[in-house]
Amino acid sequence: MAVALLLMCYLATASSEGAPSPPERIAVVGAGIGGSAVAHFLQQQFGPQVQIDVYEADSIGGRLATITVNNQQYEFGSATIHSLNLHMQDFVKLLGLKQRREVAGKAAIFNGEQLVLEETDWYLLNLFRLWWHYGISFLRLQMWLEEMMEKFMRIYKYQAHGYAFSSVDELLHSLGGERFINLTRRSVAESLLEVGVTQRFIDEVIAAVVRASYAQPLTIPAFAGAMSLAGAQGNMWAVEGGNKLVCTELLKLTKANVIRARVTGIALLSTEGKMLYQLRHESDGGHGLDTYDMVIVATPQYQGGSNISFENFEPSVVELPGTYHRIVASVVHGYLNSSYFGFPEPKLFPFSSVLAADNPDLFFNSLDNICPVNVSASFRRKQPQEAAVWRVLSQRPLEKPQLKTLFRSYYSVQTRDWAAYPHYASALKELPPIVLHDNLFYLSGIEWAASSVEMSAVAAKNVALLAFNRWFQHHEKIDQKDLMHKLKTEL
Ligand SMILES: Cc1cc2nc3c(=O)[nH]c(=O)nc-3n(C[C@H](O)[C@H](O)[C@H](O)COP(=O)(O)OP(=O)(O)OC[C@H]3O[C@@H](n4cnc5c(N)ncnc54)[C@H](O)[C@@H]3O)c2cc1C
Repeated sequence: MAVALLLMCYLATASSEGAPSPPERIAVVGAGIGGSAVAHFLQQQFGPQVQIDVYEADSIGGRLATITVNNQQYEFGSATIHSLNLHMQDFVKLLGLKQRREVAGKAAIFNGEQLVLEETDWYLLNLFRLWWHYGISFLRLQMWLEEMMEKFMRIYKYQAHGYAFSSVDELLHSLGGERFINLTRRSVAESLLEVGVTQRFIDEVIAAVVRASYAQPLTIPAFAGAMSLAGAQGNMWAVEGGNKLVCTELLKLTKANVIRARVTGIALLSTEGKMLYQLRHESDGGHGLDTYDMVIVATPQYQGGSNISFENFEPSVVELPGTYHRIVASVVHGYLNSSYFGFPEPKLFPFSSVLAADNPDLFFNSLDNICPVNVSASFRRKQPQEAAVWRVLSQRPLEKPQLKTLFRSYYSVQTRDWAAYPHYASALKELPPIVLHDNLFYLSGIEWAASSVEMSAVAAKNVALLAFNRWFQHHEKIDQKDLMHKLKTEL
């Protein structure tokens, strides 16, 4: 009996000395998809006993947001998700949400004078037209994208096995070697020319797609370009009820403590040999200070946009370079002026989306006839001669004459000016760091490789795994080389 008791005491001491206890308090700054997802993944890793506080200065969802027109909600920020975005799919299943029914619609590209490419209802006819105009360029593009997507999908396998990366470069390298890193350093146009896509196809089609998704020219990095082109292949979906539901529901599931306050500073404190992070925050209720074992910054930090100061760090945490690109979303309820696109008879206008070609004189980037976030079985898209809800993305707010050019008349216009994506022309020499200090992590730097909902979710899982592996010193799970091979031989 005495021996058994001694043995139990020994085992208890060994485990308390051997394995550190999990962090007690973690703070997440930002409740967009990045912040909500990292709160969920952190809880999965560290367990339910860890207190997770999520600070949000504005609305839960961040760039996932809706707007109300005529008592119905529409996506105002990020509207669509790719079918291969597995984290988003998992969230929807886990949270008991549904994918919204797809409402068919056709797209065209407008060069300021005429439609230069028109989609039809017939898949084969679309292929024939592409081949007729551009030869086999679209097949070359397809092959390039498929190869990239196949390599990108490796991340899900690595993450399922608990592997994490301490920098975006390491993460990309594990997926596609030096080539993937180079794709963040050279332009999409250059990379496509190299695989045999013609200049004409790039100028007439690729430029319009890139402009519609990132509002930037063909000089954007190839990795980001590929993400936007993958989105144009179809197979897109959205969440019934609004994409932002994923954020609100993840936070509820995690039982995260959501604090409506803006974090203004993070200071390093050293008390009784323990490193802690002190968060300074402000809200309508006043100022506050709180200390944490670990902090995740899940909101973009960049020149002129960083609103958090870092204090007492040695070496200091410097302001991250680069700027963010502005996009104005205008949601217009009204009658389209189809004559502007060469269709004097409104009811003959067959398109639900128009992308602007790479013409600097065009004052909009894209125009979409959008469906509400709740689509009933009987829902049908409005006919072109009826008043419909359109979303226009442009570089600047639309002026009255510009609205009058696009719409015969309208009932309402609501706008939101987004700091939408990294301004890729202010390209960074290096991608931003993930580890800012021992247990202080930056999630949003991944946007400099490509900015999308799923990229933030991938970054969230990576940061949660990295934080866990560093905390418990599972060094063998960080920055492992040749992972694909390793996993094949391990299985
Ligand atoms: C108009 C538009 C259309 C888009 N379309 C698509 C699309 O179709 N598909 C796609 O995949 N992606 C799209 N995107 C990109 C996508 O929305 C983003 O990549 C993604 O939502 C980023 O999520 P995040 O959580 O990383 O950042 P955010 O959503 O920006 O979240 C950051 C959060 O932090 C909060 N915050 C900021 N500072 C502080 C502070 N100091 N203290 C506390 N809180 C703070 C903010 O209020 C915000 O809620 C689009 C973006 C825009 C703007």
